[in-house]
Order: sequence, then C-alpha cells, then structure tokens
Amino acid sequence: SPSVFEKVPGAPEDVIFALTSAHKADPFPNKVNLGVGAYRTEEGKPWVLPVVKKAARIMVNDDSLDHEYLPILGQDAFRKAATQLILGADSKALKEGRVGSAQCISGTGAVFTGAQFLARHYPIKGATCYISKPTWANHRAIFEGVGFTVFEYPYWDAKTKGLDLKGMLIIMEMAPAGSIFLLHPCAHNPTGVDPTPDQWRQIADVMAAKNHFAFFDCAYQGFASGDLDKDAFSVRYFVERGFELFVAQSFSKNFGLYSERAGNLTIVAKTPKIKDQIESQIAKAQRAVISNPPAYGSRIVSLVLSDKDLYQEWNQNLKSMANRIIEMRRLLFNELTRLKTPGSWNHIVDQIGMFSFTGLSAPQVKVLKEKYHVYLTDNGRISMAGLNTKNVQYFAQAVDDVVRNH
Ligand code: PLP
Repeated sequence: SPSVFEKVPGAPEDVIFALTSAHKADPFPNKVNLGVGAYRTEEGKPWVLPVVKKAARIMVNDDSLDHEYLPILGQDAFRKAATQLILGADSKALKEGRVGSAQCISGTGAVFTGAQFLARHYPIKGATCYISKPTWANHRAIFEGVGFTVFEYPYWDAKTKGLDLKGMLIIMEMAPAGSIFLLHPCAHNPTGVDPTPDQWRQIADVMAAKNHFAFFDCAYQGFASGDLDKDAFSVRYFVERGFELFVAQSFSKNFGLYSERAGNLTIVAKTPKIKDQIESQIAKAQRAVISNPPAYGSRIVSLVLSDKDLYQEWNQNLKSMANRIIEMRRLLFNELTRLKTPGSWNHIVDQIGMFSFTGLSAPQVKVLKEKYHVYLTDNGRISMAGLNTKNVQYFAQAVDDVVRNH
C-alpha cells in the first residue's frame, strides 16, 4: 500500500545549520565560516571555557550527584542563580518574592515556553506579537508556531547603519494596547546595534503608556560589553519601572555550553501569588513537552554562579571572549580602511556583541561564498568570532573585491 505520508512536502533546510555543513564539506584550505553565532578561538576552534572544565571535574568527583529526574521546572539552585544573574542579586522584585522561573531547553526553549504560556493565557484575545526587523529567524517561527500573528517593528536603519529609534517608537505607539513586544536586551542579533540607556527610557515610556508586554530574549549577557551588569541594564530598568515581563536566558554563548541546552525563563509578576499561578501553568505545560529539563549544563552553571572563585574565573573567561571579538572588529575596520574599501565602515567597530551587520548585499554574499569560500548569511551578517588574525586580511580583501566589483 502507498505511504500515508506521500503528500508531505519537504521543508527547506535551516539556513544557519546548512551554512555550517557547507563550510564543513568545503575542501578549500582558507575557507572561513562567519555564519553560526558560536565563539571561536584565535585558532578558529571551539573553546571549552577553563572554568567549565574545572566545574565538570568537580562534578565528576561529587558522589552526591546522580541521574535522577530534575523537578519539572528544573534545578532550584540553577533557577535562583539565573534569575539573580539577570535581575541583580539586590533586585527589589526578587526580594518581594514575585519573580518566578522555569529551567528550559536553553534560550530557544525559554522563548518557546514563554510564547506558549502567552498563547494560552494572555488575557487580550487576538493580541499580536511584534518582533524587530530584522531579528533571529526563530522568533517568528516560535511565535507563529504557538499561534500568534507576528508583525515587525522597525529596528535597523540601513542609511545610518544604526538604530531606527523613531520608526520603532512610532510602531509601538500605533500598535494596539497590550501588544507583545519581543526585545533583545543586549547584543542584538543580527545587527549588533543596541539602544542606549536613554533610548531604553524612551522605549519604556511608550511601552508603559500603551500597556505593552515586554518579552526580553537574552542570549548574550556578558557578550556585549564583557560586563554582566551593564548588559542587563535594559531588563533591570524595565523591572524597576514596574513592568511585568518575561526574560528568556541562554547560557549557550556566555558559558560556551551550546549543546547542553542550559536556559531559563525568568518571570517578573506583580505579586507572589500571580507569580505562583504563572509558574504552575508553565509547569503543567512543560510536563507535556519535555517532562523535565536536562541536568548537566544547569549544574555547571549553578556551580559556577554560586562559588565566588569560579564566578570570578568565569568573568575573566567571558571578558577574554568579548575582548577578542572587540579586537577583531578593530582589525577588520583597520584592514578595510587601509584598502580604502568604498563606503563607511565605522559600524564594524560601533556595533556590539557577537555579530556585525555589514551592509553587504545578497549578491555580494553569494560571490563571497562562491569565489572566496567565505560563509555568511544572505542578510550580510557576520559572526565576528569566526575572524582571527590569520584570516581577517583574507576576509577584508574579499569584501573589498565584492564591494568594488559586484
Ligand atoms: N535568541 C537569540 C537572539 C539567539 O541569537 C539565540 C542563538 O543564536 C537564541 C535565542 C537561542 O540560543 P540557544 O537555544 O542555543 O540557547
């Protein structure tokens, strides 16, 4: 008999994962992968953070650890450490007992868990979710996946290669009251452009006036400035202003724990009772999706965050990643300036975090890939971590060629 699945259409491959496999399969010796947002060393290799290695060794020798199920909402110590990290240990909302949390399948799972909760329980029927234009592609996929209509708010200004604050605020004012706004607290993916503290104040003013709901997706705390507190400014400021909000936190990048799926959804509610109601619904929903989260990555994170010495060491590890990326921005900018590549390239050094939005067009990206074996997404985003002192000149020359000739 014929297959019942005969009519299932094939889906396109994920763009980022496809780039990684294409790069892997390319035999060209000087190939460069600037696609995936994963940290690389000066040698172009993945980096297991020394503090993570240390924590892993402590865990191997800890006979009290076992492989029992974690609770549905995850490991208590991890949830506590994660919420403190984003809100600050002295957060008033924490002290008032109105902050909840759920350990999730990394940042992606935290966005999903929050989105699913909102789809089921957000009181404004037909509320729309607004995402930045552009944003991480999964935002649309996740929110549409749970049933939201997704609109975009302006973010990137192609002319200034900076933030389109005016456009953003206009759409926030025009959106129906109580809309859901997905915000990147720092190191915006893909543009590398963040609002300044004063711009965050203006955003909060409009969001408060319109009763919009803020859903922060924090995948790069510590990666933007190298300073964990500075990178949490926007979230802490919104909490101070009295917003109820969600924060999806990923420890993939700042701990280099990509495959371990350590993430958290922080929930700031008006009262402890409301926090409990939300947490209980999230527990009920999580039980039916993953049952309970994985332990390994969250144990590493909570061990490091709860030990003074390990915490210090982690901060040093983080700073060295952030600083190497900042150094690569400077080198790339210098090379393009030296080559007198047409156009202005200040945005390379002005942008922040893992990514730079170069302004290169899709046809130029195609030439980079086919002629130079340089892999990046069609929107011209490059992962700065893929650059090092050995390939930055090669990359700058390739950019110079495509800008002049394509
Ligand atoms: N959110 C943003 C903006 C991201 O850039 C990423 C990763 O690239 C994630 C969430 C999810 O990361 P993960 O699920 O690997 O922790």
